[in-house]
Amino acid sequence: SLPCRSDATAEKEMTLAIIKPDGLYDNYADKIKNAISDSGFRILNERLVQLDEDAAMSFYAEHSSRSFFSDLVKYMTSGPVLIMVLEKENAVADWRTLIGPTDASKAKITHPNSIRAMCGKDLQRNCVHGSDSLLSAQREISFFFKEKSPGSGSMEHDEL
Ligand code: UDP
Repeated sequence: SLPCRSDATAEKEMTLAIIKPDGLYDNYADKIKNAISDSGFRILNERLVQLDEDAAMSFYAEHSSRSFFSDLVKYMTSGPVLIMVLEKENAVADWRTLIGPTDASKAKITHPNSIRAMCGKDLQRNCVHGSDSLLSAQREISFFFKEKSPGSGSMEHDEL
């Protein structure tokens, strides 16, 4: 019979996770990080960032025409956020499953074990972000973790 692919050789994938301002403000960072490692993700990189309006607008550019956009930008700039790169096999889809549906108030009923059910409040304040596709993950990871060219200011990205 064919040999099984071992964990050591399985294809790893990266996704971007964000603990949003409400999640940090309500002190959920440790609980969220425990859920992350209990589910087999490795945190490859992390940054605590205060987003400014430009950064939040650019990160959520795909939603710029939506009625909730300006409120979303206000929310995402209302306090610091914790940005993390997560690695695991099937990381993008598995992180989306772990965080649960967008509307945290509904998640509490339909997905009670999800992270958004645990620490989110409603459709906007849902305490965490997860990339929705492999392509989004790549864009979002390089948005926050750009390779620094030699001679560029090292604090560049902490001003976002
Ligand atoms: N959001 C909102 N109102 C809505 C839909 C979304 O305030 O009607 C916020 C919410 O914080 C959500 C973010 O905008 O997480 C991005 O929306 P998206 O539809 O991409 O949801 P997600 O992929 O984060 O579940």
